[in-house]
Amino acid sequence: MNLISNLKEIKKKISGQILFNEYLSKYSWFNIGGPAKVIFKPKDLNELSVFLKHLKGYNKIKILGVGSNTLIRDGGFDGIIIKLGKSFSHISLFDNNKIIAGTSALDKQVSNFALHNSLSGFEFLSCIPGSIGGGIKMNSGCYGNDISKILVSVQAMDMEGKIRVVNSSDIKFSYRKCNMKKDLIFVSATLLGKNDNSKSIEKKINELVERKKIDQPSKIKTCGSTFKNPEKNKAWSLIKESGCAGMSVGDACISQKHCNFFVNKGKARSKDLEDLIKKVKNAVLNKTGIELELELEIIGENL
Ligand SMILES: Cc1cc2nc3c(=O)[nH]c(=O)nc-3n(C[C@H](O)[C@H](O)[C@H](O)COP(=O)(O)OP(=O)(O)OC[C@H]3O[C@@H](n4cnc5c(N)ncnc54)[C@H](O)[C@@H]3O)c2cc1C
Repeated sequence: MNLISNLKEIKKKISGQILFNEYLSKYSWFNIGGPAKVIFKPKDLNELSVFLKHLKGYNKIKILGVGSNTLIRDGGFDGIIIKLGKSFSHISLFDNNKIIAGTSALDKQVSNFALHNSLSGFEFLSCIPGSIGGGIKMNSGCYGNDISKILVSVQAMDMEGKIRVVNSSDIKFSYRKCNMKKDLIFVSATLLGKNDNSKSIEKKINELVERKKIDQPSKIKTCGSTFKNPEKNKAWSLIKESGCAGMSVGDACISQKHCNFFVNKGKARSKDLEDLIKKVKNAVLNKTGIELELELEIIGENL
């Protein structure tokens, strides 16, 4: 299939943006990443479906949320990046205790919406800088909660442009993981809360946000935790114990405040971060015998 000529056909039928060779650095919290062959920003659900139906059989497609867990390689992405925009960021109340949210809504926006509707259970989302879509994929969470605990169902589009509804009870969630098929694009989610007192919800949000400020660095170019915590261990502690605290490669370094947060302090390339990741992984394995597993995701091509 000739991708570019196919896309020119699709362009006549839709009004969403199709961009060629645009750098992906602004789509990742690391502020790193080479160009994508194509970026598609559908105007709405129907356009997304038309687009996918047209591209039937083409499978180098990756959906991005806000890129707070994704390191994009210096060679960019040799395929199509799909980025959901405004029409996927709706948030509404349903049945008095449920929230239906588009997957490009930010976790923090959903947490605020829940607060204003006196629904508890969503407080932890105010500490996570991602989107609802990324949150479901990663089963994101903190301080004893994660998204699997509030998820009722996900509405997702498959690569044939068809909508499916997947109940949370049919999804296997584990620590920072869910087993939903890689080729599903989540478009909205139904989340369940508990009617509660807004003052106590607000208090809990403030406490969690304050705790997060103390525990983790902010206002830096990072994707949060680099590695998952191994069972009965903390990745940051193993990294520290293995003498990696001050390690760096080029402009890629380890946060002084939190050893599991890797940072682009200026002009780091993806390769610098990947080299730093390898160095730390080896050091921890040699010192402790524990093999760290990545929490952040690396996508794209090497230069
Ligand atoms: C400062 C900082 C603090 C953080 N703290 C936490 C924390 O406390 N707890 C925690 O769990 N995480 C934390 N993270 C990591 C990150 O914010 C979460 O993993 C977040 O949920 C990722 O969401 P995103 O929209 O940025 O996803 P992205 O990085 O854009 O994507 C992540 C994955 O989700 C998939 N995805 C995204 N949207 C969709 C969709 N609509 N349909 C299907 N798949 C999709 C992508 O393909 C990719 O595989 C932190 C990150 C930072 C930068």
